Amino acid sequence: MDDEFQIEVRIDIPSDSDGFIRRECPNCMLQFKWHDGPASEEAEQHVAPDSYSCPLCGQPAALDSWNTEAQVELAQQAAMPQVMGMVNDELASIFRGVKGLTYEPGNDVAADESVPLTEPDDMVIVASPCHGYEPVKIPEDHIGPLYCLVCGSAFAV
Ligand SMILES: [Zn+2]
Ligand SMILES: [Zn+2]
Repeated sequence: MDDEFQIEVRIDIPSDSDGFIRRECPNCMLQFKWHDGPASEEAEQHVAPDSYSCPLCGQPAALDSWNTEAQVELAQQAAMPQVMGMVNDELASIFRGVKGLTYEPGNDVAADESVPLTEPDDMVIVASPCHGYEPVKIPEDHIGPLYCLVCGSAFAV
């Protein structure tokens, strides 16, 4: 049996009206937003780093580790039809070898059942003095130092 399951899921992470998408720090679990794609022509000229630093706690993490719980759920929901398809195929092949039994795959999982996320226009935009081309949005009630998304340097606003 080939157990290399390859599930590819594309989800649409919504951005707010300024083009920011919600992120959740894997270290402090707080949420902030970063700009979806280059925020300006200047930003386009810089190579995206391998990791970003949390603006709220300063801890770096790889680019793909910032999904919020809702975004992870959305990806899992999007993967469900594929997973169910594989399970059905497996079951069908098992039942094929059993005399007198047939297996009818159910159709309970609809691909379009997932609810699209929406992104409210909350939080305030801040730009670091060192990498100002990569602004972030942070919760309005946040107090204490902030950290540059690109290089992790602390700064105050
Ligand atoms: Zn953090
Ligand atoms: Zn910086």
